[in-house]
Amino acid sequence: MVSLGFSIYMLATLWRIRKSPGAVSLMWTIHCALIWSLTYILEITLPSLDLKYLALKAQYFGIPFISPAIFIFSLYFTGRKAWLKWYRTILLLVIPFVTFGLAWTNQAHEWIWTDVRLSSSAPLSPLAFGHGPWYNVNVVYSYGLLVLALILFSEVVIRSHRLYRAQAIIMVFGMLVAWSGNILYVFDLLPGMNLDWTPLTFTLGTVILTIGFARYKLVDVLPIAHTSVFNAMTDGVIVTDPSGRIVDINPAAERIYGRNSAEILGQSVQQLLPSWVDWRTQTKAAFETSHMVTLGKGENKRIYGLRIAPILGPRNRVDGQMVILTDITEQREADAQMLMQVMALEAVQNSILITNAQGEIEWANPAFSTLTGYSLQEVIGKKPSILKSGQMPPEFYQHLWETILTGQLWRGELINRRKDGTLYHEEMSITPVRQGDKITHFIAVKQDISLRKEAEQALQQARDAAIEANRLKTQLLANVSHDLRSPLGAIIGYAEMLQANIFGNMTTEQAKATREILDSANQLLTFVNNLIGQAQLETGKVVIRERPFEPLTLVESVRPTASYQAARKDLQLTFEIDPALPPVLLGDDYWLQQIVHNLVNNAIKFTEQGGVTVRFFPEDEHHWAIEVKDTGIGIPPEYHEKIFSAFEQVDGTATRRIGGSGLGLSIVKQLTELMGGSIRLESAPGKGATFTVILPLKFPDEKKP
Ligand code: ADP
Repeated sequence: MVSLGFSIYMLATLWRIRKSPGAVSLMWTIHCALIWSLTYILEITLPSLDLKYLALKAQYFGIPFISPAIFIFSLYFTGRKAWLKWYRTILLLVIPFVTFGLAWTNQAHEWIWTDVRLSSSAPLSPLAFGHGPWYNVNVVYSYGLLVLALILFSEVVIRSHRLYRAQAIIMVFGMLVAWSGNILYVFDLLPGMNLDWTPLTFTLGTVILTIGFARYKLVDVLPIAHTSVFNAMTDGVIVTDPSGRIVDINPAAERIYGRNSAEILGQSVQQLLPSWVDWRTQTKAAFETSHMVTLGKGENKRIYGLRIAPILGPRNRVDGQMVILTDITEQREADAQMLMQVMALEAVQNSILITNAQGEIEWANPAFSTLTGYSLQEVIGKKPSILKSGQMPPEFYQHLWETILTGQLWRGELINRRKDGTLYHEEMSITPVRQGDKITHFIAVKQDISLRKEAEQALQQARDAAIEANRLKTQLLANVSHDLRSPLGAIIGYAEMLQANIFGNMTTEQAKATREILDSANQLLTFVNNLIGQAQLETGKVVIRERPFEPLTLVESVRPTASYQAARKDLQLTFEIDPALPPVLLGDDYWLQQIVHNLVNNAIKFTEQGGVTVRFFPEDEHHWAIEVKDTGIGIPPEYHEKIFSAFEQVDGTATRRIGGSGLGLSIVKQLTELMGGSIRLESAPGKGATFTVILPLKFPDEKKP
């Protein structure tokens, strides 16, 4: 009756937690023990041998199945449920079912019981019988499974966390109690008492198992799994009892403190966390807080985030506190780094704007506020289009968006409007920020370029003004020179007539003066011609008109003045036309004459002794050349390029004394290039100079179709 009452209570308890792993197998155990107890009571109490025999057989509804049920329960409890495949479960039940079958057919073979008889005529007495061979098979099999279950429970006792250890100890204890009656009975350790105590002790044992099972709320987590999680956690965990004594510590916490559990267990938690008492007094007895602690020194200094949470037992009783230590050193460093970066962004001169993927402003630095006049609060959540000036065409923004939405960097200049309505130029780059292949943000870096724009505009204006001034100067020169040329023509004409004694014979002095007038007037004419040439070249008015000409006519056009000048300086002047050169060429003889005149004029000007040779010859298959060679002062190499620029002269030469404008070679060069030719200069100081103008060889008939 006692076991009946217990059993029903236990079944009710287990029913409530039947979802917990193992609850069903424990219920089976109780069922079996219950059947065994009831039928055993019947065996004792029923009056006749036949009825008692029937009750004896009925006990085998329970007996063979108890051990497999306990064994299965132990598998669940220790987290080995996976082992329990369906075919293994069937194998486990083969022997119990055979036993059951043999018990019910015992009269035919007596494999379970032999010689079943009444033990006495007293009212409450069990049957007496001998043990058949299969009886022992069942005993050995059942004991084997119980031993296995016991081993599994014991393992938890040894390996587990405290809370589970207590539970497992209860399990082992329950197993031993259950077993004790059977040991007493099977080994006949209580002679004289011929009752089988097993049903009673088994019932008691299962009561204990159920208490162990149901009492601890943690049934949901398997103890072994719990233990491995506890040990494998990278966070340190310290468990205290309600008085603050350390009852458990995981390997991570041991490592953090550099001490092993043997040294720490049983100590007050204050040893590890000196501020414990303060935290405690700040909050209520069962407290849940978080803190930060720094442990270790120097290089090994680490920062830990600390969470303290109460462990609540049944009916919310506080069983202790759990402290979890998480290493947040890197996180803190990253935070510090982040802070520094934000401060840097705040400090820079360029405006920085961060928007989300939809283009809504999430952040802007102070430089942005300075530039635009909008405060951060005013722009957050708005779009940068609040800065639109209306001065940029819609396609501009369209192109901008197309660029950045494809994940590319956009860079450009635009005109924006400040909060106060004024416009400004800015240079902006927008960089999309991606996470994976999704764009999450855009970062715009802006720079006010209004000042630069103004400077650029001023420069442009200055350049335009300079170009205009130069054009006016050239125009003026051309006009003035033209007006100079006509009176000069008259001067030279009359001077030549004087020289030719047309107005009667002159005295020696008069003839000398006339020569001076002619010289100076010719010099002036050359200069005026060059000025006009330069002005025409600058205004692009020179057009090369090619027509057939004879090189000989070129010679004839310059020879008179040149001979006259050379003779005055006692210089030898030679003209040579290479017979290999075709007698008629195609070219602009007017400007060619200007070239030869300038070169010969220079050669005579800068030569005091020796002579000047002018040669016309074919340079190669496609070119002909005019070479003017003198034996004069020569030109230092560093001036070989310079002298071809307008108004450039070699310093310290006789130039200044001799006079000249610095225009001649510049004109020669420009004309040559216009004709598609080039100039070669060979000269060294004191070694004379050779100028060679190389021109494309063109024949008159080539021109005609
Ligand atoms: P300029 O009117 O001064 O002769 P050019 O352009 O004809 O102007 O010549 C520039 C300068 O080149 C001269 O002033 C002179 O210093 C140098 N130069 C030109 N031709 C010769 C030459 N045949 N021998 C030496 N120096 C020369």
